[in-house]
Amino acid sequence: MSDLFKLSIVVPCYNEEEVLHETTKELTKIVDDLVKAGKVTETSKIVFVDDGSKDKTWQLIDEFSQKYQTVSGVKLSRNFGHQGALLAGVTSVSKDSDAVITIDADLQDDVNAIPKMVDEYLNGAEVVYGVRNNRDTDTAFKRGTAEMFYKFMGFLGVKLVPDSADYRLMSKRACEVLLSYRERNLFLRGIVPLVGFKSAKVYYARKERFAGESKYPLRKMIKFAMDGITSFSIVPIKLIMGLGFFIVLISILLLIYSFVQKINGNVVSGWSSLMISIWALGGVQLISISVIGEYVGKIFSEVKQRPRFTIERDIYTEKTQEENKR
Ligand code: UDP
Ligand code: MG
Repeated sequence: MSDLFKLSIVVPCYNEEEVLHETTKELTKIVDDLVKAGKVTETSKIVFVDDGSKDKTWQLIDEFSQKYQTVSGVKLSRNFGHQGALLAGVTSVSKDSDAVITIDADLQDDVNAIPKMVDEYLNGAEVVYGVRNNRDTDTAFKRGTAEMFYKFMGFLGVKLVPDSADYRLMSKRACEVLLSYRERNLFLRGIVPLVGFKSAKVYYARKERFAGESKYPLRKMIKFAMDGITSFSIVPIKLIMGLGFFIVLISILLLIYSFVQKINGNVVSGWSSLMISIWALGGVQLISISVIGEYVGKIFSEVKQRPRFTIERDIYTEKTQEENKR
């Protein structure tokens, strides 16, 4: 086997017209250097996945695809979310790439980690995680909530690589395994560690977003975290059962207590204790039902087996077919 392998870099984009110029510039430079260093083939590609953007993102991707040989794109028919866009990109490129790197469009993840990932791959790693060694550029709120989330996931028994997001390299084989996980409620950073194989980590400093603003408002962040928890763990259901037992125990103790009071002749007026128990129990029941509902909802969306993304146009495949003919 020759040392040359085909690398594809998948970049999900949602309304990223402000950053695309710069991202294209930096990524093409990295790929060109890798080609010159004799590590990757000349057919290596940067694949922008337009996740149903409302601005000029697709026009730019189309334009760059014509201008640069290394650039291509995939257009989704509507917005499927970050995870769906990543999956669509990986699905398109893994057919004929030896390794796939996924990276955000906003240049927050240091592109200089890419050559290091490539080296780890050449050393035999099939999954290379990009791990940030600082989060200084994230807001205190984002940092705090993220930390809490990862701690909680650990508590629930979900294995995640701390401080790694969706910046990683995967071999063709790892991609194929990843794609064989058929779930709809995607939480990729939970699935990737389940893929197995030899893995490595590459450290980098996370930077400010190059331009534009975060496409992850609080609403999307909460949904993402909920997906992470309820797609990977049934511990919440067990916690509720524990809570139920605990409350039953307390009510038995209260019963005994009130009997003793009765025997001793201390008549209790009873109103407050009644009210409190009605409200407390009602609350617990509502929470319990809602958590169970969350899982039932997951089952509902899984059994429908709907497509996880729909591609409208695939310049990547058009280009590679063209190149393979030559
Ligand atoms: N993104 C996407 N679809 C969405 C939301 C975001 O493809 O519905 C992309 C976005 O263009 C970016 C990446 O996902 O390349 C990460 O988003 P962002 O940088 O806004 O998230 P943050 O870094 O603030 O967590
Ligand atoms: Mg970002």
